[in-house]
Amino acid sequence: MKLYNTMSRRKEEFVPTEPGKVKMYVCGPTVYNLIHIGNARPMIVFDTVRRYMEYKGYDVNFVSNFTDVDDKIIKKANEEGVTTKELTEHYIEECKKDMAGMNIKPATTHPLATQEIPGMIDMITTLIEKGYAYEKNGSVYFRVRKFSRYGMLSGKNLDELESGFRVAVDDEKEDPLDFVLWKPKKEGEPYWESPWSEGRPGWHIECSVMSKKYLGGEIDIHAGGEDLIFPHHENEIAQSEAANGETFSKYWMHNGFLNIDNRKMSKSEGNFFTVREISEVYDLQVLRFFMLSAHYRNPLNFSRELMESAKAGLDRIITAVKNLDYLAQNAKEFEDEKKDAVAAELAAYTKKFEDAMDDDFNTADAISVIFELVKYANTTINESNSKEVVTMVADQIKKLSDVLGVITEPKEELLDADIEALIEERQAARKARNFARADEIRDELKAKGILLEDTREGVKWKRA
Ligand code: AMP
Ligand code: ZN
Repeated sequence: MKLYNTMSRRKEEFVPTEPGKVKMYVCGPTVYNLIHIGNARPMIVFDTVRRYMEYKGYDVNFVSNFTDVDDKIIKKANEEGVTTKELTEHYIEECKKDMAGMNIKPATTHPLATQEIPGMIDMITTLIEKGYAYEKNGSVYFRVRKFSRYGMLSGKNLDELESGFRVAVDDEKEDPLDFVLWKPKKEGEPYWESPWSEGRPGWHIECSVMSKKYLGGEIDIHAGGEDLIFPHHENEIAQSEAANGETFSKYWMHNGFLNIDNRKMSKSEGNFFTVREISEVYDLQVLRFFMLSAHYRNPLNFSRELMESAKAGLDRIITAVKNLDYLAQNAKEFEDEKKDAVAAELAAYTKKFEDAMDDDFNTADAISVIFELVKYANTTINESNSKEVVTMVADQIKKLSDVLGVITEPKEELLDADIEALIEERQAARKARNFARADEIRDELKAKGILLEDTREGVKWKRA
């Protein structure tokens, strides 16, 4: 299995630090809002990497954090008149709901920054003791020039970087390149006690600490979106390697960016979607399928047309599985003379699928192989085949789709009359001001692919 290592800028054979095991850390979202479809890309991509590793027999320890303290969180909590804890707990729950909709497996551990402050204080103390960090007026900074390998991930040159600092130099730092590890609190901000001040950690230190605590010294894969290469991952490497005296991560993986209608996603320009908004229009399986239709390192353009084409593609697979399941139910058990030939075909498709995935997780090609397999099933498997043969083919499509985290089981279909009855019950619940029950019915319908729209003329519904 080969993967592209951002550190070496080439595809390398994957050799884990410990046989049979994969220790993987993915930088998670900052939780002050519903996640947007850009945040969903690394979640889907690296969940697929994890699933493929598991399919290959590796025992994967997958850690992904939630950043639950930072400037944006504090600002939003103040605007909403809630505590940062209330705000982040709410959005973590919402994020987990979106993840479930996209069929993303929960991480082995989902650590929270605010729960790991003592570990961060320990690592910062070590960095000061080793001369890699210094305290100034209650703040602690990392001494970038002391870490000679700084810039190795992003390929940045320190002198060029330094000349890029046109803004007034922050005189507290010894060098404008230095970055903050700990900062004193400002009025109204959450804070923790530390040897330097009542304050809070800088952003980068949390990942270094959590990665070491939950995965150990040298890990196998550290991942995130390409915007994290610099400065976040560069700073994580500096902190971890300076403190621990060993390589931080053997491989570095980064996904390309998601754009909308060929423009950078931006709230102010109005081309911005949350995963929740997409779920009002599409089953989130379609979003997952769409994300995997491109190679993870390439930029990906989101548009209505591409989502429609992903929906049609996914439907083709689901319909094939449905037809095969129906055939299998009615098929007879007998010695099918075609069994060996079908088994050989399936093995060939599996090999092709694995070759695509082994080549730096080429999910676009892997999906093409599933389509070829579907075509093969549609054109050669029929009533003349035995139950065993039909089931073998159906299972193969399900298995390969499952490696990509794509669910092929058809959704349990509700009859129109059942839907109308539930909508009536929801209206009655609303009248009785039982909003919890009303929301529950809405969610139940949504889970079965029925979308409700409250209009002036009453409730309208459609199948997603
Ligand atoms: P954040 O909440 O901004 O820290 O981002 C969480 C994750 O989402 C990081 O791995 C980012 O690199 C990734 N990310 C943010 N925006 C996009 C985007 N438009 N396309 C792809 N990945 C993104
Ligand atoms: Zn991180």
